[in-house]
Amino acid sequence: MRELTGLSLEEMQDFVRELGLPAFRAKQLCQAVQKGMDFEEMSMLPSSLRQSLQEYAVAQPVSVLQVHTSAVDDTVKFLFALRDGNCVEGVLMHYHYGYSLCISTQVGCRMGCRFCASTLEGCVRNLTHGEMIGEVVCANRYLGEKGRVGHIVLMGAGEPLDNFDEVIQFLRLVNREESCGVGLRHISLSTCGLVENMYRLADMDLPVTLSLSLHAPNDAVRRTIMPVANRYSMADVLDACRYYVKKTGRRVIFEYALIGGVNDSESHARELAGRLRGLQCHVNLIPLNEVRERNLKGVSEETVRRFLKTLEDLHISATRRREMGDDIAGACGQLRRQVLNSTER
Ligand code: SAH
Repeated sequence: MRELTGLSLEEMQDFVRELGLPAFRAKQLCQAVQKGMDFEEMSMLPSSLRQSLQEYAVAQPVSVLQVHTSAVDDTVKFLFALRDGNCVEGVLMHYHYGYSLCISTQVGCRMGCRFCASTLEGCVRNLTHGEMIGEVVCANRYLGEKGRVGHIVLMGAGEPLDNFDEVIQFLRLVNREESCGVGLRHISLSTCGLVENMYRLADMDLPVTLSLSLHAPNDAVRRTIMPVANRYSMADVLDACRYYVKKTGRRVIFEYALIGGVNDSESHARELAGRLRGLQCHVNLIPLNEVRERNLKGVSEETVRRFLKTLEDLHISATRRREMGDDIAGACGQLRRQVLNSTER
């Protein structure tokens, strides 16, 4: 079955030709698919045509199963249903510059980070690029007249560079006019640091922002919380980041979740600053979102402030990431887990 959200205009034209339909149907179909319509809603098509399309294609590979709106800010958390019964999460945030959508790239994740809820049951499967576009289509349909998704972060469940080919296809399609029209410069890809694929991405000339989940100032600490650190040393990861900066001219964002007693001391901050010196980068400090299944602790406001100040004093550009949607299980993998747990019971 072809996922129509995953087709470029040229591919839609080929598809339409294969079915023996007139060429103008291609554009029509692209537009209808982007509006989030399923075949039943495409009243501009003769019903016989809608029926035959249904035999060969899926118009909407993703649908909205649940919507949770935050009471404290404008954040919306979606639980998206996929056609095989799996579900993934997405988070829609409203900033002064517009709407930003955080999407998932895999059902679950196999990276095993000790603080993360998405990886608790491993990776079930990769998402297709049509499904990733489908997440954006769902959010746009939800927004309706209020606006459109203008920024995308690949920071939901899954490791984007572990689903490399589909993610690249997604990036190549999503900025096209007949698709979601989100410019690559408005897209961030977050990775735990799969080094070979970081180099491959850098060589593709896709001007997306790279976010690197560092979370530690050295290999010893990193290995206690991120199994991937046993595969790649921090030196190799940072070299790949330097290469990314050189190839794309874009600074790298380092994500650093502060975990009580693990990576949050003054000397950790100093060591981190030393490692990042000379690298064109920015550090995003995130107070750990405590996950029920994990016995890691968050940190106090005071600790965040101190860590931030140490970095700034050492001339490392850093900010504390705003937490949004805290009351709606906004963090990675938490909502899907709530649903999995409640259906298990
Ligand atoms: N696999 C990718 C993208 C998904 S995770 C990656 O590792 O970057 C998105 C971000 O959320 C990562 O920086 C991840 O380390 C962080 N994260 C996951 N669980 C978290 C938690 N409980 N508290 C704070 N940040 C968390």
